[in-house]
Amino acid sequence: EAAICLFSSDLRLHDQPVLHAALRSAARVVPLFVVDSGIADAGFMVPNRAAFLAGALADLDAGLRERGGCLVIRTGDVVAETCRVAAETGAGQVHLAAGVSGYALRRERRLGDGLAAAGRALVVHDAVITAVPPGALLPSGADKDHFAVFTPYFRRWQAAGLRPVLPAPRSVPVPAGVRSKDVPSAAVLCPGGKPSPVLPEGGERAGRRRFGAWQRSGMADYQDRQDDLPGDATSRLSPYLHFGCLSPVELVHKAAGRTGAGAEAFVRQLAWRDFHHQVLAARPDAARADYRTRGDRWRQDSAEVAAWKEGRTGFPVIDAAMRQLLHEGWMHNRARMLVASFLTKTLYMDWRVGARHFLDLLVDGDLADNQLNWQWMAGTGTDTRPNRVLNPLVQARRFDPHGDYVRRWVPELAGLAGAAVHQPWRLTGPERAAYDYPEPLVDLADGLVRFRRARGLE
Ligand code: FAD
Repeated sequence: EAAICLFSSDLRLHDQPVLHAALRSAARVVPLFVVDSGIADAGFMVPNRAAFLAGALADLDAGLRERGGCLVIRTGDVVAETCRVAAETGAGQVHLAAGVSGYALRRERRLGDGLAAAGRALVVHDAVITAVPPGALLPSGADKDHFAVFTPYFRRWQAAGLRPVLPAPRSVPVPAGVRSKDVPSAAVLCPGGKPSPVLPEGGERAGRRRFGAWQRSGMADYQDRQDDLPGDATSRLSPYLHFGCLSPVELVHKAAGRTGAGAEAFVRQLAWRDFHHQVLAARPDAARADYRTRGDRWRQDSAEVAAWKEGRTGFPVIDAAMRQLLHEGWMHNRARMLVASFLTKTLYMDWRVGARHFLDLLVDGDLADNQLNWQWMAGTGTDTRPNRVLNPLVQARRFDPHGDYVRRWVPELAGLAGAAVHQPWRLTGPERAAYDYPEPLVDLADGLVRFRRARGLE
């Protein structure tokens, strides 16, 4: 008898509980990935993630071939295609990692029903996409179905204890006659799309190389350098975590096995990821609706939104960050916070506008992390200080003190030395005219007053 391992956001062979369980349950396993038309229809198949996904699928297929198997790829509705492959191969069970989005939860239900109708079973596995499964930790109180505050969550998370890391299988025997088609390219996954010029290589091998390098040379200083914009000293593992090329359980085990404040700070960030996933799993509508409504009546101004998206706001650190996103499909966490505060508070625009733009470009674009971080910054989410506004100038001086981050991404200001690059508006006359760079889109003090009035704070 055969079983299907239906890959989703878990495109790896090391520490892969879904594949492990499928191999234990049957003599032959069909490793299956469905290019799900529902995800494309929902606007989630964008060029940058398609490029990364193409690399990740090719790498997974290569890894399976080394073990005597291959990756079977189908395109269409994930439920219909999986049921079809089950019928073709006679698979009695389909194994799948538990998801957290409303879409993933509906998919699990539909797939379970579809398989049951044909006498087959769906087996859903926890702690594959996150280190601690959503819902495994609950605050006290009968009506509480998730943690809304990070610190108490983190305390429980640290005490939770993780499952052991599973080795990669030595062989993956597939049923006779199972063959893979060509692994789709980015252009097939997202026709007509144009990826950003510089993107990370997708796949488990690239992810493991990056993690190895990070453990050797980045992690020890992480707590001191995580906000250093020009230093670019964070792990850049987020796309590998989003697609599951790396296992969060394995990363936590490996980092927790090291002593030092850097490793501790890194583990804490991985717990943030779990935190947002458990919020979304309990409140799937938080992907679209305010988690906590503040009665906002957001402004609308398409010219201002376009200036923000294109990096022409006249605030160098904001523009640098937005241009980094366009160029690399990635942005530093501190920069994400700055541009999100600027859009939602200084310009007082709907967080959904910013979140959509991020999802259009981020290689790590992830419904739980993106929407809930946006809500956090907009003050509609789980932040306990919802009305805090980040001043881009103060933040720029603090996290890019010599202006190197801005000069890297805003080359038209490269002639301005040191921190002077953060305030081109202070130049006058011919000196100012020498720089082809816009005036500030908004007066920061006016923006602050507007926001505070809108929230009824003054
Ligand atoms: P590191 O600093 O090396 O952290 C290690 C890992 O911890 C990251 O790879 C990530 O998986 C996790 N992590 C770190 N910070 C956070 C956080 N605040 N929330 C959740 N997980 C975190 N992250 C995404 O993965 N996808 C998104 O779509 C996304 N959108 C964001 C939108 C906004 C407005 C903000 C403020 C943050 C967003 N983040 C998102 C979180 C964070 O910015 C990125 O995870 C981080 O910048 C990725 O870089 P890194 O891998 O070098 O992170």
